[in-house]
Amino acid sequence: MTTTGASFSERLAGYEPVIGLEVHAQLLTRTKLFCSCANRFGDPPNTHVCPVCVGLPGALPVLSREAVTLAMKAALATHCTVQSESIWARKNYFYPDLPKGYQISQYEKPLALEGWVEIPSRAGEPRRVRLQRIHMEEDAGKLLHEGFPWSGEQSGVDLNRSGVPLIEMVTHPDLHSPEDAFEYLSALKAILLYTEASDCNMEEGSLRCDANVSVRRRGANALGTRTEIKNLNSFRHVARALEHEIARQVALIESGGEVVQETRLWDSARGETAPMRSKEEAHDYRYFPEPDLAPLRAGDEWIEEVRGTLPELPAERRRRFAGQYDLPDYDAGVLTQSRAVADYFEAVARESGNAKAASNWVMNEVLRKVKEDDVGLEACGVTPQGLGELVGLIEKGTISGRIAKDLFEKMWASGEAPGAIVEREGLAQVSDVGALQATVAEVVAANPEQVAAYRGGKKAAIGWFVGQVMKRTGGKANPRVVNQLLRTALDSDA
Ligand code: ADP
Ligand code: MG
Ligand code: ZN
Repeated sequence: MTTTGASFSERLAGYEPVIGLEVHAQLLTRTKLFCSCANRFGDPPNTHVCPVCVGLPGALPVLSREAVTLAMKAALATHCTVQSESIWARKNYFYPDLPKGYQISQYEKPLALEGWVEIPSRAGEPRRVRLQRIHMEEDAGKLLHEGFPWSGEQSGVDLNRSGVPLIEMVTHPDLHSPEDAFEYLSALKAILLYTEASDCNMEEGSLRCDANVSVRRRGANALGTRTEIKNLNSFRHVARALEHEIARQVALIESGGEVVQETRLWDSARGETAPMRSKEEAHDYRYFPEPDLAPLRAGDEWIEEVRGTLPELPAERRRRFAGQYDLPDYDAGVLTQSRAVADYFEAVARESGNAKAASNWVMNEVLRKVKEDDVGLEACGVTPQGLGELVGLIEKGTISGRIAKDLFEKMWASGEAPGAIVEREGLAQVSDVGALQATVAEVVAANPEQVAAYRGGKKAAIGWFVGQVMKRTGGKANPRVVNQLLRTALDSDA
């Protein structure tokens, strides 16, 4: 529908984006995939290397059972079918971070096939993004361009990462917007965290994503020519890069050009993609079966044993939270992003007996502080028992909502239980009529103009009076009692 004069956004709306993602996740094993070197990030370069992972001639790989188990966990958690036999293959290419000259991967017979990941959808039922395959492979090393006296003239190679186990998870082209891609990545990350298959730390490169994207006119069935975008190191970058690339492809087609199948690099500083290389084909890699490794056989017994270790998964837990605790779907989604947060919430809900209050405190206060202080939930000062007790103190009327916020900060800083702080600092809410009556009388006496206004019909001024009493009592007065006392005082003397 190219109509002259139509704005670009109108023309953009005439196209449907089609997106498929390839995600690499490092597995959270103790050792590398084919040797006993440690799988650990952040140590000095080349301190976890041996003849196998450096690729010295004659060194033989030995498969890590732990790595296969974690890969199987990820596969089963994404509803894939683990294959009874998969084959290791050599993927040959030259790059300075790959001394062997090939990467051990899986090609024709990968570990697992055909699964799905559920993503929430704004309009109604959750949707399934289908997975084509999950295969295992070893990571390459890493080039170091910065941080050394010779940087600028030479680059170094760190082989600590060489041979670290990865899974590559490939979707069908089922995603149709940058938001879809973001939702999928969030859901996948939650699954990998729940199963403890990966720590998904993007800064450390534990999770990497390549995005394939094409566009087609709305209503068309055939797929358009795609480009593959690399160098996407956060979910936000994935979404921004896709947005840019979709607009670029549409503009190209609208101006009579054609999309070229190629690999493009995302430049986050410039906010655009630029060509990197023409698309490599599978035959460029000269894949062939790895002669040093037997086929990987996964019998039913092993698969079922692994299935038995799967935790309740994020999508199931989300549904359960919404039902069991009667929470809005949004709350249930936020609270189940990680297992630690979900466990924490459930403990607070149990402790306090008020799930909605527990949800509000966890979402608004706890998650905010965790982010601000960059600490783990398990290391923060407020235990679920402490927070449960705090919610209980509000419910019972022992403390006011305002004091509760201060109390929370104090608990966070000191790690103390709320009861002890309330006692020591005299924070308990004053609900006693006799004690509050005097303050109410003072406030009424000190503000004749406001009193006149109220009595003249400005009933909303009651809020101002409540504020004054709260101020004089350091926020400790029970606002409900204050309200009643004020009404009595102001209405009766009229
Ligand atoms: P390759 O072997 O080049 O990696 P694949 O066929 O395995 O290519 O596909 C890689 C990814 O690209 C998959 O996620 C797939 O869904 C996606 N994809 C394939 N064709 C298209 C297309 N025309 N538009 C968007 N994504 C596509
Ligand atoms: Mg690929
Ligand atoms: Zn090694």
